[in-house]
Amino acid sequence: MIEKTLVLIKPDGVVRGLCGNIISRFENAGLKIVGMKMLWVSRDMAKEHYKEHVDKPFYVGLEKFITEGPVVGMVIEGNDAIEVVRKIVGPTEPKAAQPGTIRGDFSHISYKFADNKNIAVKNLIHASANQEDAEREISLWFAPEQIHDYENVFEKTL
Ligand code: ATP
Ligand code: MG
Repeated sequence: MIEKTLVLIKPDGVVRGLCGNIISRFENAGLKIVGMKMLWVSRDMAKEHYKEHVDKPFYVGLEKFITEGPVVGMVIEGNDAIEVVRKIVGPTEPKAAQPGTIRGDFSHISYKFADNKNIAVKNLIHASANQEDAEREISLWFAPEQIHDYENVFEKTL
């Protein structure tokens, strides 16, 4: 099924200059970027985006992390894009993420390390977890006219 998913390059990815490399990984897999912007997340926006985590112990650190610098937001489209993007990103804890994934290639930090420092685990990317989250997050981050409908070269060769 053709799906759309929300991807954020978190502030750690932006300040480390990894945007190009990260975006290339999605493009190389033939996924299509149909929306893209840079913005600085407000505390209110952080609470809205991470609604499900607001009451968790790591939320204070998570809000601090996601608001500490600008992020790059993308809407990515493709066949089973929600699952495929999360596969390319790798598991939440960089320590456990395999080499070849974004989190495994560019970080190695553990939950334990982050928890001891009382900070969020800096893991470079957010990607929607399921269809329901994708729809909610895309409408939170992008106005309909900021999402574009076009055919990429990959589709033309399928
Ligand atoms: P994201 O929602 O950012 O795509 P995810 O779905 O892989 O990541 P979630 O469980 O939704 O992971 O957690 C959201 C974010 O909160 C994580 O990406 C990470 O930055 C941070 N986080 C989650 N669990 C912990 C924890 N135990 N300690 C520190 N930070 C955490
Ligand atoms: Mg999540």
